[in-house]
Amino acid sequence: MEEKRRIAAHRRARLQAKQSRAARRKLRWLAGKQARYQRDVNHQISKAVVSKALRHSCGIALEKLRGIRERITAHCRQRARLANWAFGQLRLFLCYKAARAGIPVQLVDPAHTSQTCPACGHTERGNRRSRGEFCCRLCGHAGLADHIAARNIRARALGDAPNGLGPKVAAAMPATSSLASSE
Ligand SMILES: [Zn+2]
Repeated sequence: MEEKRRIAAHRRARLQAKQSRAARRKLRWLAGKQARYQRDVNHQISKAVVSKALRHSCGIALEKLRGIRERITAHCRQRARLANWAFGQLRLFLCYKAARAGIPVQLVDPAHTSQTCPACGHTERGNRRSRGEFCCRLCGHAGLADHIAARNIRARALGDAPNGLGPKVAAAMPATSSLASSE
């Protein structure tokens, strides 16, 4: 009786081990698939940005890299790591494609780009209503947070006041990238 139970337990354990090996394999495969997809998307985006800059004969503005740790919160460590990795890869692709095409890339101080109003220059944490939403608490100017950040990056690249939008920078990339969330 005892012997039988031991054999059954052993078999179950072996099955579980097998199952988790398969699960681990499956997880690894999924991660690889996600990485390949992300890489494709990053190639497409960087290609589109560089060809847009070429068409308009202008440069590209990017946020200077911040420390990776700054963006990682305890709650979504995994996601933040993925997002950082994806964004870092996009920068890399952008930079070498731009260099190959002879397009200047300007790096901009990213401080408060997502909290500054591009219309009146008012900077406040509360301007950023949520992850995606911007609404100036002084003048009411509203928009998508990523667009607002991109406008501020462009303005900084041009060395202008927050609302001086010149024609020389075709594309600006905000740091908040939701790229990694697409499956
Ligand atoms: Zn404002």
